[in-house]
Amino acid sequence: MASNSLKRDLLKILNSNQVRTGEIDRRLYSYDSSFLATRNSFIPDAVVFPNATHEVAAILRYASAQGIPVVPRGAGTGETGGCLACRGGIVLDLSPWNNVDEVDTSNMQAFVRPGVVHARFNRQLSDHGLFFPPDPGSSQMCTLGGMIANNSSGLRAVKYGTTENYVLGLRIVLASGEVITTGGVNSRAIKNVSGLNLTKIFVGSEGTLGVITRARIRIWPKPAAKGLVMATFRRLEDAPPVVQEVYRAGIMPSGVEILDGTAIRAVNMYRPETALPEVEAILLFEVDGSPPAVEWEGNQISNIAVKAGGKAEWSTDPQRMADLWRGRSLVAAAAARIRPDGTRIFAGEDISIPLDKVAQALREVHRLSAHYGITVVSFGHIGDGNIHTAPVIDIDSPEEVKRADALVDAIHRLAIELNGSTTGEHGVGLVRSDYAAIEHGAALQAMQKIKQALDPQNIMNPGKIWP
Ligand SMILES: Cc1cc2nc3c(=O)[nH]c(=O)nc-3n(C[C@H](O)[C@H](O)[C@H](O)COP(=O)(O)OP(=O)(O)OC[C@H]3O[C@@H](n4cnc5c(N)ncnc54)[C@H](O)[C@@H]3O)c2cc1C
Repeated sequence: MASNSLKRDLLKILNSNQVRTGEIDRRLYSYDSSFLATRNSFIPDAVVFPNATHEVAAILRYASAQGIPVVPRGAGTGETGGCLACRGGIVLDLSPWNNVDEVDTSNMQAFVRPGVVHARFNRQLSDHGLFFPPDPGSSQMCTLGGMIANNSSGLRAVKYGTTENYVLGLRIVLASGEVITTGGVNSRAIKNVSGLNLTKIFVGSEGTLGVITRARIRIWPKPAAKGLVMATFRRLEDAPPVVQEVYRAGIMPSGVEILDGTAIRAVNMYRPETALPEVEAILLFEVDGSPPAVEWEGNQISNIAVKAGGKAEWSTDPQRMADLWRGRSLVAAAAARIRPDGTRIFAGEDISIPLDKVAQALREVHRLSAHYGITVVSFGHIGDGNIHTAPVIDIDSPEEVKRADALVDAIHRLAIELNGSTTGEHGVGLVRSDYAAIEHGAALQAMQKIKQALDPQNIMNPGKIWP
């Protein structure tokens, strides 16, 4: 229940159109894309829409004085409950604050506000022949603030890295309301080893250390040419070694994706005209660069795939490439079609596995799927070992939900056993904090010390990362 005094105090800081305390407004902020959000009701006490750093600072000074939790939020596409007010408090909706302040083409960087949507940013950069390489599947919705806070990536991380590789500096409001700029107060330098790298500490901190109100982002020239190889394999085991063979041939594709047999079936059921070959695995290799390099790499990859027992199709035709990509881009939407009463849940969905154990992990996930009687659609970024394992369940069956919880736990533990991680790009949030101690050991306590130093009262997004 939002108290009248909270509303009154917030209205001293912000205008009335920037503060919401009504029940329906607050309920709208009790969800993100996680399965957890459908099972719990984390309703904040107030939602505010600041659009200046001094406004965020004033809110944090107030929250600090009162000991009220503050939860930053972008578009709410996160899959971990990261932007949910699990301990009540104030949600800062930063999505309307969406200016691109400047694109500095001479210095290959841009200055953005937290609410800029990824796809819009790239459309703007494209006019200059530039791009921001990290590319989440949620591109049309997610904000750069959310991407930085989650260190998001996507299918091109294999060659271009994750968001952290592109953040040159941040303006941050700390829990106390103090404002700092990381990466150099007035710097436009691309390289900078002056002092501790505070930028890296905030990237991936999931809103637990401070609020990002501005970011200096490195941008890249768009490659001149692209091509795509689709390789199909009758046996799942034959696919992962092809990825390593491609690297051994001196090729670094801009994307390497896998669809397992279940994902292929789901796509064909969802959109039959896609007509993907019904095999145990499909690999998609995207290559980019200069036209001759692209041509050579595409042919090399096709030869490697065929030698490994697969079939390969190579194309540089934009229409054909779009057709070949379509199967991959449809999996997220198609997964639920694998059974009539199915819902694809975002839980246990983001494991990251060492390259030499990916085949084993995929087989193990199939075994766990059979053991728990729950279909798992596996697909994703095999080039860096980040596999999306999407359970499909009847969410109205409490018994099935219980089995899904056990399956998700087994998938997370499998990733750790195979020397991987429970999450490659979606983050910890509320849903994976139980595994943080196993993954990090004593390093988790060092992380906690940093958190305590920056946020001694634990008002910044409490309950996330650390249980
Ligand atoms: C269909 C779909 C596909 C997806 N595909 C991918 C993918 O390919 N790769 C990938 O990495 N992720 C993917 N995601 C997950 C998600 O989209 C990303 O994590 C995204 O970057 C979150 O952005 P957001 O604006 O929605 O953030 P939110 O969900 O609103 O917030 C995410 C976290 O960031 C914090 N936060 C937000 N803004 C700020 C700020 N200004 N300052 C401090 N903290 C802040 C929040 O507190 C929260 O902890 C996908 C999600 C969906 C639904």
